[in-house]
Amino acid sequence: MPLQIIHYPHPTLRYCSKPLRRVDAELRSYVAEMLDLMYEHEGVGLAANQVDLPYRLFVANPEGDPAIKDAEAVFINPVISKGRGLEEDEEGCLSIPGIRAPVTRNATINIQGYDLNGNEITGEVNGFLARVIQHETDHLDGKLFIDRLGPAQAAEIRAELEEFELAFQSKLETGELPNLEMMADRRQRLEQLRT
Ligand code: ZN
Repeated sequence: MPLQIIHYPHPTLRYCSKPLRRVDAELRSYVAEMLDLMYEHEGVGLAANQVDLPYRLFVANPEGDPAIKDAEAVFINPVISKGRGLEEDEEGCLSIPGIRAPVTRNATINIQGYDLNGNEITGEVNGFLARVIQHETDHLDGKLFIDRLGPAQAAEIRAELEEFELAFQSKLETGELPNLEMMADRRQRLEQLRT
């Protein structure tokens, strides 16, 4: 089954993933598929949760352009520290397509993690990449950008979120999606393989 981007309020988007301990051929092929999906949907980042995988891993390319390979990165087990400064900017999410809202994030962060070959990634990051890393790392903790909105902004998008909730409910009812228990079992199986 090819990976697919799941939409709010799918429960895997609320799952806090455990650190990844094993990188195998199948995981590498998941990462390649995630990059393809990210570009296909014109995103700049995609977390494993968003393709229904319970792993602490995300892909990013702040340029959003597959031709700019230098900007492409895979972050495994990312840890953010020393967040400083605050900046507000508009964000969207491939798991909540069509909704955009301003989110306040740290302007500068330190990041530590690993790439697919086990090489350590470490350094200070600012600007748009810092925002992307914070948004994607939130995903790995089961957090969405809509959780970070003020009450007025949250109220503004409430009706649109309800549309997503109704669509999800109807996919459960028609069997287009497996039931919640089957989803949880699948996550557990995948988790046991590599964490
Ligand atoms: Zn997102």
